[in-house]
Amino acid sequence: CGVFGVTGVADAANFIALGLHALQHRGQEAGGIVTHDPEHGFSSARRFGLVRDNFTSQKIMETLPGAIGIGHVRYSTAGSKGATQIRDVQPFFGEFAMGGAAIAHNGNIVNADELRRELIERGSIFQSSSDSECIIHLMARSLQRNIPERMKDALRRVEGAFSVVAMTRTKLIGVRDPLGVRPLVLGRIGEGWALSSETCALDIIGAEFVREVEPGEMVVISPEHGVESFKPFEARRPRFCIFEHVYFSRPDSILGGRSVYETRRQIGVELAREAPVEADLVCPVPDSGTPAAIGYSQESGIPYAMGIIRNQYMGRTFIEPSEQIRNMGVRLKLNVNRALIRGKRVILVDDSVVRGTTSRKIKEMILDAGAAEVHFRIASPPTAWPCFYGVDTPEREKLLAATMTEDEMRRHLGVASLKFISLDGLYRAVGVAEGRDPKAPRYCDACFSGNYPVQPTDMMAKGFEL
Ligand code: 5GP
Ligand code: SF4
Ligand code: MG
Repeated sequence: CGVFGVTGVADAANFIALGLHALQHRGQEAGGIVTHDPEHGFSSARRFGLVRDNFTSQKIMETLPGAIGIGHVRYSTAGSKGATQIRDVQPFFGEFAMGGAAIAHNGNIVNADELRRELIERGSIFQSSSDSECIIHLMARSLQRNIPERMKDALRRVEGAFSVVAMTRTKLIGVRDPLGVRPLVLGRIGEGWALSSETCALDIIGAEFVREVEPGEMVVISPEHGVESFKPFEARRPRFCIFEHVYFSRPDSILGGRSVYETRRQIGVELAREAPVEADLVCPVPDSGTPAAIGYSQESGIPYAMGIIRNQYMGRTFIEPSEQIRNMGVRLKLNVNRALIRGKRVILVDDSVVRGTTSRKIKEMILDAGAAEVHFRIASPPTAWPCFYGVDTPEREKLLAATMTEDEMRRHLGVASLKFISLDGLYRAVGVAEGRDPKAPRYCDACFSGNYPVQPTDMMAKGFEL
């Protein structure tokens, strides 16, 4: 998901709509905005579908007055059952003795079932099926006097990944979990401030990137005190999601001081060194494979070409939760550039193989178009484990790499060769020159390594085995 908040601007809702539009790649199912203004109190609009189809209409935007507000774009992850209901769409709102608060959450709470059970037993009435709603109920139960303190109390009970943007009538709040699994950045806009999942959403509103909210940090922004920083959690060694670098974030964002584009290009360079092959063309599977394909081509000297053309009117296929539509999705979204491909030995570069649906379809399309050979190069190690921290991977059995060796995968996909970047190669590309330290990895890489930095409590209660 993507979260965004702004305070101290003339018309918060418009800035939030722009910010969410720039974060649309983080979730396309639904979006919501909450604002506050002294005359009207809190206002909220939550809708299915894309930001541009909802939060551009004057009719909706007029209902969101105020100089402070937050927003969320949603894609449902591991915990969520069935189709999204409008009641699951964030931001969530709670009314407390000292006034209301709204929150928007990116990540996944791994002990949400346990917390929910306990809260319901003690009288909480849940409105949604979302793990994020636990935070509101935990806040309601806290005995603290003000909202930031209540939030600290609540989040100390929560395990897993969270980047949260929240607001009261006057304060904008941003928090990252102690491991800092999901991103969150702080920006300056005129006399105001913005919080965003990624820097690309600061760019769109003309805000200046100030710094990241640190792992385990809470920032509270108010007109009286500006930005105040707190460290409500026990300090831990950070474990940022390495997959944000590979796929999830936008290439024009800066993560941990590194350009995402440059990291992806570097992954391609590493891949070309680790897994060279003789061929005529290097083609990306657009858009997620593009920077890595550029790096592979630069390092190998094999010409880069657009062998697959992407229909710009389609979103991210993976984010489509239904299997059937995802299957269709490949053809709706990608087509082979036949005139270029015929008779050529082609290296296809993609970011990841999850179920293998995309790769299989693409291979068929490209052989149909008369390619002589197809070689797959993948910009991440084999995805062999599900993510429980906010990226929607299927159950373990559906992950190709969980049940097959690399050679079995190659045969299953029907390609001449298949190579994944090594974990060490990936670490080098994100700037860790010595590669991955197995005793103290710098990133979360659980979907590749099975090394989960936070025990997935609820999943283990349901029988998931590490
Ligand atoms: P597959 O078809 O193998 O199940 O999915 C792999 C494709 O999904 C890749 O092209 C990748 O770009 C895309 N993808 C989108 N979202 C995700 C995600 O959350 N995890 C992974 N691993 N791949 C994703
Ligand atoms: Fe990121 Fe993978 Fe860790 Fe999930 S399991 S947080 S996708 S690195
Ligand atoms: Mg892709």
